[in-house]
Amino acid sequence: MNAVGSFLHHFCARNSRRWFPLLSVYYLTYKCDLRCTHCSDGNGEPYHRLPSTILPGAKVIDLLRIVRRHSDFLVLTGGEPLQHPDFAEVLEKLNELKFRGVILTTNGIALDRFLPEVTNSIWDLVVSLQTMDPARGDAGYGGKAGVHQRVMANIERAAHHPDRKYEIIISSVVTPENIPDLYEVYRFCHHRGFRLAACPQLVGVKAHPALVGSRDYRRFFDFLIEEKRKGGVIQGTVDYLRQMRDLQKFSCRPFTMLVVSPLGEVFYPCLELGQFAGNLLDEPDLHGLRQKGFERFGPQPECDTRCHSACALGFSRILSNPLSLIHEAALIGRHQIKKRF
Ligand code: SF4
Ligand code: SF4
Repeated sequence: MNAVGSFLHHFCARNSRRWFPLLSVYYLTYKCDLRCTHCSDGNGEPYHRLPSTILPGAKVIDLLRIVRRHSDFLVLTGGEPLQHPDFAEVLEKLNELKFRGVILTTNGIALDRFLPEVTNSIWDLVVSLQTMDPARGDAGYGGKAGVHQRVMANIERAAHHPDRKYEIIISSVVTPENIPDLYEVYRFCHHRGFRLAACPQLVGVKAHPALVGSRDYRRFFDFLIEEKRKGGVIQGTVDYLRQMRDLQKFSCRPFTMLVVSPLGEVFYPCLELGQFAGNLLDEPDLHGLRQKGFERFGPQPECDTRCHSACALGFSRILSNPLSLIHEAALIGRHQIKKRF
């Protein structure tokens, strides 16, 4: 089923036992040489402490071939996906699978080595950046001097690559400490034509307690909403940004996504809850895997975790308020017309 069919399925059939993801997320590797202070999977473990077992490149492609049968759009992430030893090979072969969109998330450290492959295979290049200040940046990456400078240099290389086809998205984790810095990160994005995606630091699956009720946090999201209304390129609809500002509980739709571990295990129903329904390489029938997950763990939970996962919130809002997409399209259209005249 294509993305439009999947969307209609989720819109109309909430309790189905079939699984039609709108987007798939594959963790190429959990390995990462950085030690970001905010790093955490859904259980509060930093990614670098998770098992570093991976599939070789050819097997990764076999797995992604199965994923492609179920999904038009793919996110390659980690850990640091560029640390997979066969990363270049995976990107080279990825085009054969004809995904309709591939997003790559990276810390940016090794980006210069892979720009030709990234240019050929990636639609959206997401680089993590929490501050424009080199000293605070290095501290946030775990304390190694020069890391922030290297990331900034690689963002510029990626922006100036002669064959660039991808959009650059700067992904910023909003922590209790870095809110003042993020205004400057936004100005940098605005000036350079990058999209800004901001989401709160999570502790487990919830926003850091110091952000909940924080006036500075709220003010920053109000600023983003205002900038978005003025034509700023900011990830998420206004409706989504409001929800992220208020950190409200939402009605989760975890089966809008398929999230797969480095070895091919399918998270049920979501990464955040950390349970596996089975391995896609052994059982390529995703509907069967959903059924297995259902039998082992029960139906989609009426999840009371008050999770603040950006993806989960994004899909939930689109399905609860599809008009927000029309509003988004109108906003973009209005600003494009303004730019022309
Ligand atoms: S770059 Fe990502 S995976 Fe690596 S330490 Fe930082 S947050 Fe964790
Ligand atoms: S709210 Fe959704 S994504 Fe978050 S833990 Fe619950 S089911 Fe998972």
